[in-house]
Amino acid sequence: MKLIKGDPIAEAVYAECLATFETLKAAGRLPGLAVVLVGEDPASKAYVGAKDRKCQELGMYSRKIEKPATITQAELLSEIDALNADPAIHGILVQMPLPKHLDTDEVIRRIDPAKDVDGLHPVNLGKLAMDDPTGFAPCTPAGCQRMLVESGIETAGKHVVIVGRSLLVGKSLALLMMGKGKGANATVTVAHSRTTDLPALTRQADILVAAIGIPKFIGADHVKEGAVVIDVGINRIEDATAKSGSRLVGDVDFEAVASKCEAITPVPGGVGKMTIAMLMANTIRACRMRAGI
Ligand code: NAD
Repeated sequence: MKLIKGDPIAEAVYAECLATFETLKAAGRLPGLAVVLVGEDPASKAYVGAKDRKCQELGMYSRKIEKPATITQAELLSEIDALNADPAIHGILVQMPLPKHLDTDEVIRRIDPAKDVDGLHPVNLGKLAMDDPTGFAPCTPAGCQRMLVESGIETAGKHVVIVGRSLLVGKSLALLMMGKGKGANATVTVAHSRTTDLPALTRQADILVAAIGIPKFIGADHVKEGAVVIDVGINRIEDATAKSGSRLVGDVDFEAVASKCEAITPVPGGVGKMTIAMLMANTIRACRMRAGI
């Protein structure tokens, strides 16, 4: 069994970022990312902090915008308008989920598609569906695909079963994997909460992707001998033996499944590392496209 770790692959993405970064710097351009956080959700705060730190580490311009959970829709939209108009900002990410009283779809649609580095604007999702490389693919699916490519795992003609149909992960990854580029040309099945006899379906997968949000949901019974398993899930569970009283696990029961796999991603240290890397890559590309370089 091969362990597909996120760190070395993310480092390869950062090395590419730095090379492009030098070209941009020479042309007097500095890539800038704005991350908007609404409310006090601890997991969202941690994600935003990690994105901000990585921007600074790479030498990019980073702006963290923190707003109270009481912000109105109109106030949030005017914040987005200001970022759309700001020439120092090339990428805008609004950390999800937003508080319930806000209209998430309207917020995403307000972001200039050329700055939508999270890849969730209808224009970018349309470009993804059309195999148009000028769009931005959502970061987590793009990260999963990159992990497969860098690990030398053939996807062409393979049966990829994705469990989960969210736009953020499952549905977008399905579009990527059935596309025509590198790490694609797969035959894709998307399973979800209404799928009947899930184990029978997932056992057909050459490559199984779990994006469900239920700790250790995928067990040995779901996996064919020799399959590749990509675990997107990040779930915090109680663990009395851990110092903090909790730990992170994926949607896959790693201990039960690993010995059956040709390759598998760990949690933590797997796909999560790639999401931030692809966000940085998208932001630098947005800057390059704006500069016409
Ligand atoms: P979501 O809640 O939007 O979607 C979950 C999907 O799982 C739904 O489409 C649902 O139909 C499906 N599902 C739920 N129960 C099921 C069942 N019993 N059988 C089959 N399918 C079922 O979640 P999401 O935003 O797509 O995230 C999924 C997981 O990935 C979560 O654990 C999340 O924390 C994690 N995540 C990780 C990253 C990362 O960077 N690694 C990024 C985004 C999300």
